[in-house]
Amino acid sequence: MFPRILIDLKKIEENTKIIADNCKKYDVDILGVTKSFCAIKEIAEAEMKGGVTMFADARIENLAKLKDLNMPKMLLRLPMQSKVEEVVKYADISLNSEIETIKLLSEAAIKQGKVHKVVLMNDLGDLREGVLPQDVPNIVEEILKLDGVELYGVGVNLTCYGGIIPDEVNLGKLCDIAEKIREEYSVDLKIVSGGNSSSYYLLEEEKLPKGINNLRMGEILVLGRETAFGKPVHGMYEDAFIFEAEIIELKEKASVPTGTIGMDAFGNTPTFDDRGKRKRAILGVGRQDVDPDNLVPLDEDIDTLGASSDHLIMDVTDSKNDYKVGDIIRFKVDYGSLLTLMTSEYISKEFK
Ligand SMILES: *Cc1c(COP(=O)(O)O)cnc(C)c1O
Repeated sequence: MFPRILIDLKKIEENTKIIADNCKKYDVDILGVTKSFCAIKEIAEAEMKGGVTMFADARIENLAKLKDLNMPKMLLRLPMQSKVEEVVKYADISLNSEIETIKLLSEAAIKQGKVHKVVLMNDLGDLREGVLPQDVPNIVEEILKLDGVELYGVGVNLTCYGGIIPDEVNLGKLCDIAEKIREEYSVDLKIVSGGNSSSYYLLEEEKLPKGINNLRMGEILVLGRETAFGKPVHGMYEDAFIFEAEIIELKEKASVPTGTIGMDAFGNTPTFDDRGKRKRAILGVGRQDVDPDNLVPLDEDIDTLGASSDHLIMDVTDSKNDYKVGDIIRFKVDYGSLLTLMTSEYISKEFK
């Protein structure tokens, strides 16, 4: 069924194994972050075989999908107060920065007869989630007063919003914060979670501060690239996911539209280069499923001209392949296209 995303589970397992084995050498546990593939169980299982020790997702609905897999689960996005019951039900651990929410988690956990584990997020400069360094002692004291929750660790997230690269300085600060909490409050913080796929390069360069014992890995496992500098990782597959779409029209047409040019379907005024008559293929996929800028055709001699909600238009004039209506065009995906293609219900997900 097209359009479809073809998933190679073996490649995902092998990618995971490379990262997990390397992390093990430094006593770092890796969590498999499942959000980019909407927590499809088969993919999660491939990561489990590869050596992740926990699953993590930003959405509680995704963790619920994994409830039958016997692995601890972490909620990555700070819990919504309106969803604390579900958080305690489906997640063993959650990342937190708001004491009022932690109080509600405590109440929900007591009601469900559980102890919910809390990882305190620290903002070390990226300006997404996390308490500021000067506010740490206060919130730690408040958490320690509560029943039903255990202060289980500290964490940081970098690169995602502010683009701040993890380094020895900011991750060193996180280790200091952990040590200070351990000493001052005699609590046994189990995890010091030093970020996402963008922290991996530090491990390869043997610069990851000693105190970091946990990394939350999403993109690197599925797309085979580290994300601080966007470099491929030796031995890893970048093509575990391939996107395929079908040609529904193939005709030679002018390269400039005829008539008065107004706005396109998205409110932009398009511009065109006159390259004479070109062979144009229309594929049955569109912006409702994916941003065409995030797709790279495997056939290097074809170009993306544009897309509307349901149509993707390619110039196939220079290709060595003699495409016909009904043929399939294949693409590499990046993080952006993986996210939206996996989320779109119009895209079939199939295993190789
Ligand atoms: C998405 C997310 C991750 C995983 O990020 P990758 O770059 O895909 O490795 C880790 N931690 C948090 C808090 C996240 O939101």
